[in-house]
Amino acid sequence: MDSKPWFFWYVLQLMVHLAFVLVQLSGKIGKHFQVCEFSYLQIQDSYLLDFVFLVVAKTVGRKLLKMKNKRFEILQQNRKSKEIDAPLLYQQFQSLHQNFFQFHKSSMDSYSPFDCLIFDLDDTLYSSSIGFGDATKRNIDDFLVEKCGFDERKASTLRVQLFKTYGSTLAGLRALGYDVDADEYHSIVHGRLPYHLIKPDPQLRNLLLTITQRKIIFTNSDRAHAMKALNLLGIADCFQQIICFETMNPNLFNFKSASPEEFPVVLKPSLEAFNIAIDVAGVDPSRTLFLDDNVGNIAAAKVVGLQTVVVGKTMKTNEADYALEKIHNLTHIVPEIWF
Ligand SMILES: [Mg+2]
Repeated sequence: MDSKPWFFWYVLQLMVHLAFVLVQLSGKIGKHFQVCEFSYLQIQDSYLLDFVFLVVAKTVGRKLLKMKNKRFEILQQNRKSKEIDAPLLYQQFQSLHQNFFQFHKSSMDSYSPFDCLIFDLDDTLYSSSIGFGDATKRNIDDFLVEKCGFDERKASTLRVQLFKTYGSTLAGLRALGYDVDADEYHSIVHGRLPYHLIKPDPQLRNLLLTITQRKIIFTNSDRAHAMKALNLLGIADCFQQIICFETMNPNLFNFKSASPEEFPVVLKPSLEAFNIAIDVAGVDPSRTLFLDDNVGNIAAAKVVGLQTVVVGKTMKTNEADYALEKIHNLTHIVPEIWF
């Protein structure tokens, strides 16, 4: 029975608090009311402020949730059309942000589970089936014959063996003690590629421009090749950073006279290469999306904690969080990027 008066007192207090908050929120507070507010807050400050915070948080939360759902709706609508109109999508998102909130769109990026996207280059952002794959193999064979003196008939077999064992021909040659200069190797293997076959990709460019998070290239290729390919695709300015052969192997350039055994070549999929990339990019792996066509690279990326997309595949591998047949389908497969 003793609890009854306490209960009524509690309900009364709650009603007074509620009325007070409603008056506050309705914006009808006059100067004279602020005097009462001060004395009232002195007594009830913690409870009242908690309540105000709760109401504000709920209101803002509902608004944010509504916007998130709206973004998803827009994505779904765009999915129905055969090709995503990226600039239109971007425009729709922009106006959505402006309608809901009057501040910059970057403040909305926190809804996406990704702060950064790391892209492989070859066979991820363009297909080497344009003639690059065969040309690269031919160029490596030429290097083995011209610069290392191997028999022309054995070059192809050796190339395959070195790739399987060491991850790349250059890595294999240096591991076997051949003092191969990386610049000379790349000048033949990449320098002789038929670059005229890479055409601009405006669809990919527009897609990349809708992604507001940081975008980074992470490739085993040398910088010259990466820049050439990105420029020809018309997407070089879409990326904030390029992590490439030179980034992973600074010692090969700083200590050119050192023996090959002293500085083995570091490349994907070694964990060392991934740790260098994470360090150089300064990213949180758990909030970074890594896209690559090589399943070995995807597996290594998972080990270091990255979120992964295997590109060029219809089925997910064990270590891939998503599978993407073509990079252009990114909005269909990973819409969370735009949340
Ligand atoms: Mg690749």
